[in-house]
Amino acid sequence: MGKPEPTQHPEDGVELLRSKLSEWFAHNGKDYPWRQTQDPWAILVSEIMLQQTTVSSVISNRRFERFLEEFPNLESIAKAAEPTILKAWEGLGYYNRVRNLQKTAQQILKEYGGQFPVDTQSLEALPGVGRYTAGAVSSFAFNQPSPIVDSNIARVISRLFDSHRPIDSSAGQKFLWQKATMLLDKHAPRLFNSAIMELGQTLCSPQTPHCHHCPIRSFCLSKQPELLPIKKPRKKTISIEEHAFFHQIGQKVLLAQGTDTRRKGFWHFPLRKESEYAHLKPIKVSRYSITHYRVTLYLYHQKPASLQEGEVYHPINQLSRLPIASPIRKLLEQML
Ligand code: SF4
Repeated sequence: MGKPEPTQHPEDGVELLRSKLSEWFAHNGKDYPWRQTQDPWAILVSEIMLQQTTVSSVISNRRFERFLEEFPNLESIAKAAEPTILKAWEGLGYYNRVRNLQKTAQQILKEYGGQFPVDTQSLEALPGVGRYTAGAVSSFAFNQPSPIVDSNIARVISRLFDSHRPIDSSAGQKFLWQKATMLLDKHAPRLFNSAIMELGQTLCSPQTPHCHHCPIRSFCLSKQPELLPIKKPRKKTISIEEHAFFHQIGQKVLLAQGTDTRRKGFWHFPLRKESEYAHLKPIKVSRYSITHYRVTLYLYHQKPASLQEGEVYHPINQLSRLPIASPIRKLLEQML
């Protein structure tokens, strides 16, 4: 069965489009925990958490609720030590997100007396808050008429207008924000933004859009929606090899604290040059991905001739308190 033909241009029937979308959302909208609050701090946390983590993973592991139990407000995270916030974010990756959450909390306390700014311009000036997140906090927490464009909404808009501009190009972004602004229901921005996002997450799915059940199908101009949206060619994955060793003395294990951008603040196996292991066979070879890096880690059993800066023997029963990236923690558990 082909996609239904449009009967009206989305701009000509925008009011009907909004009401059809809202009605559909009223019956089909999911009751996510972040939709049950209008607290701007909780909404900011959910938006930052969902930037690179899937909804299902956040929901199934109660990551959102657990984070808010530990940091229920700006004050609680503003004064926390860095290892504590990194530990609370463990497993979610992209740790600069939680560092920025802390800086944002500190900035709001200092510059706004603890009251969140309402307008998108002030929100966008906060660390780690981009145009989308500013619009999301402004509309979801304060019901302000601020448009939002995330990957789900970008897909819906590209298909609705049959746009073939790459969504990650500046022309494509300009187009998406213009259309999101035009479509937005200024009288019910919270509801409208939630509804269009939900449509992208459910019916207007990437590979097989369910157009015959779509509440706005009579406005949708795309002929082959499964081919949209268009993106620029992807950033290449960088493959790297690392050589590290495992050493344990009694109930203590040697770890090094990262200082480079990829590992800053995190504990990992101490690294050495490959040439130092020329006479050894690795006891483990582990492959994992972090952001756009594909890492192959060769792990050797070795007693170090001397310790380097940042290398410390940690009691094994205290490792759970340290920030350690998930692939390294798994490997460490296997070794112990
Ligand atoms: S599901 Fe998406 S592609 Fe299909 S009619 Fe709705 S908006 Fe258009």
